[in-house]
Amino acid sequence: MLTWNDILNYVKNGNPEPPRVVIRSDAEWKERLTDEQYRITRQHGTEAPGTDQSCTRFEPGIYTCVCCGNILFDSEQKFDSGTGWPSFTQPVLENAIRYLSDDSHGMIRVECECNVCQAHLGHVFPDGPAPSGLRYCMNSGALERHTSAQGLIETAVFGGGCFWCTEAIFKNINGVIKVEPGYAGGTLNDPTYKEVCSGLTGHAEVIRITYEPQLIDYASLIRIHMTTHDPTTLNKQGNDTGTQYRSIIFYQNEQQKKEALEEINHLAGIYEDPIVTEVQPLVRFYPAETYHSDYFAKHPNEPYCQFVIEPKVSKYRKALAQLQKK
Ligand SMILES: [Zn+2]
Repeated sequence: MLTWNDILNYVKNGNPEPPRVVIRSDAEWKERLTDEQYRITRQHGTEAPGTDQSCTRFEPGIYTCVCCGNILFDSEQKFDSGTGWPSFTQPVLENAIRYLSDDSHGMIRVECECNVCQAHLGHVFPDGPAPSGLRYCMNSGALERHTSAQGLIETAVFGGGCFWCTEAIFKNINGVIKVEPGYAGGTLNDPTYKEVCSGLTGHAEVIRITYEPQLIDYASLIRIHMTTHDPTTLNKQGNDTGTQYRSIIFYQNEQQKKEALEEINHLAGIYEDPIVTEVQPLVRFYPAETYHSDYFAKHPNEPYCQFVIEPKVSKYRKALAQLQKK
């Protein structure tokens, strides 16, 4: 979560790397945008407060940059600031926006631009609600609201042994928004770590990956999953033994099921031993206790997390390097 200190740091020391870059000529923007959208986004314009009648409404949705489609905000972070401009406490991704010092109109403010196409969006102020304390004050004309996240943000759920290790791998992949450790596939409601570790609840330690399908596709995620754990050892990863460490892909629709089976089929000839990865429908994902998140980042010297990689899949691992965040 970004705080005011992070924002000031970006203004002073440079902005985060964007997920991608879109560059167009002025003439091209003019052609693609309405006059008002062009004035706001390409000429640093500000719309009149109250322009967007929906800025006090909170329908579920995703807000993208009207120029380039970059994912900016989730309606879950929207709040009624009383200003007449759509207001948010946090962007979806920490690198979605670039921050610049703006001393126009006799004030020093922090301007927000789309980090992908440099569209002017609005400003950010340190007087928003807790916990971030931020108020992203946006022009509605710079945003496009999508009623459903389908096609923009999707999720994948995989089990491949200790979720501390698998979380660490996917966090570094470009297009991955967040990775949450959790449990799935068992019989007990709201299981605890201790209960899952008993091996008696039927749950697997899993991760839920939230990703942008425009930047990384489901098949690539499966390939990363399948080549960064050992899918040939039944209920076992390295020293970890038990059904909670089983290799599994939880699909959420028929397309995911199809791609999972295809990818397993494709890899079957590469491993010497048969692949034992289960492909099951996801009934429910239970997030793990919060102290598990970012375990690897919090314990960099912990010897526990060591990846077991078949030498034969090293070529796939090399291909994965290209998918890493820069
Ligand atoms: Zn943009």
